[in-house]
Amino acid sequence: MSPTQNTIMKEFSFQAVKLIKNADAIAVFAGAGMGVDSGLEQYRGKGGLWTKSIVVNNEKVNYQDLLTHDAFDKTPEQSWAFVASLIEKYTRTIPHKGYTQLLDILKEKEYFIVTSNCDEHFQKAGFDELRHWECHGSIFNMQCMDILERDIYKTPLLSIDPITQTLIGGVPKCPKCGLNCRPNMYLFYDWFWVSNNSVAQQIRYNSWQKEIKEKKNKIVAIEIGAGKTIDTIRKTARRFTNDTIPLIRINPYDFEIENPNEISVGNGAKEFFERLEVSNVIKVP
Ligand SMILES: [Zn+2]
Repeated sequence: MSPTQNTIMKEFSFQAVKLIKNADAIAVFAGAGMGVDSGLEQYRGKGGLWTKSIVVNNEKVNYQDLLTHDAFDKTPEQSWAFVASLIEKYTRTIPHKGYTQLLDILKEKEYFIVTSNCDEHFQKAGFDELRHWECHGSIFNMQCMDILERDIYKTPLLSIDPITQTLIGGVPKCPKCGLNCRPNMYLFYDWFWVSNNSVAQQIRYNSWQKEIKEKKNKIVAIEIGAGKTIDTIRKTARRFTNDTIPLIRINPYDFEIENPNEISVGNGAKEFFERLEVSNVIKVP
């Protein structure tokens, strides 16, 4: 099969393996589906956390309503308690083996990671921070509620009462002015996210892609677990490939493809990279 054939692969694809192994440069575009195999729930997307609700102070609250700039303004304790629970989950969770296997492949090549995930699991798994664009920011950073301030700070350690799920020790404060902070990630209906860090990463990504495209490397894009509901990652991957560079879509859902340069693999991330590792001992056709 040629990489230009319009093929939906619902099973393991040797064509994808061959492209990955022969590539000099790989751009990875990862969405929430990347973390699912580590045991993390998807935040956005089908059946994601945002479609569910919790009871806080005997009141039913949608997750989506907790994660807006307005909510951090009006009910900061509630919103920060939820963020603290997410941070605790991301810190406790070990990135699944697919991350390590992906890193093993990439460290021999030129690479860049683009992710909408705010969980810092790529850094935790050992990927180079300078080859990394978090296009929705990080939950481990915070910014002042004063929208004119542009500084970004590390979020201090937070704890929640395991029974009442309320925040212990109060809402994190701005080191500069003492006002409340909010997470430095892209929230729902967010006009006020301070994207300085993300923009600096994006500038590095832009230079990297310009350089590898000029060098005419054998380039491949791998899109992992990127949904269609919030399609930032899919669109960014498509802008990168410009419908010509081969794109391997790893996703057990929404795996259909639209262009001849795309190959779809109907696997989860962990399953795909496990199979890829096994294929090292198999002759790739
Ligand atoms: Zn401030």
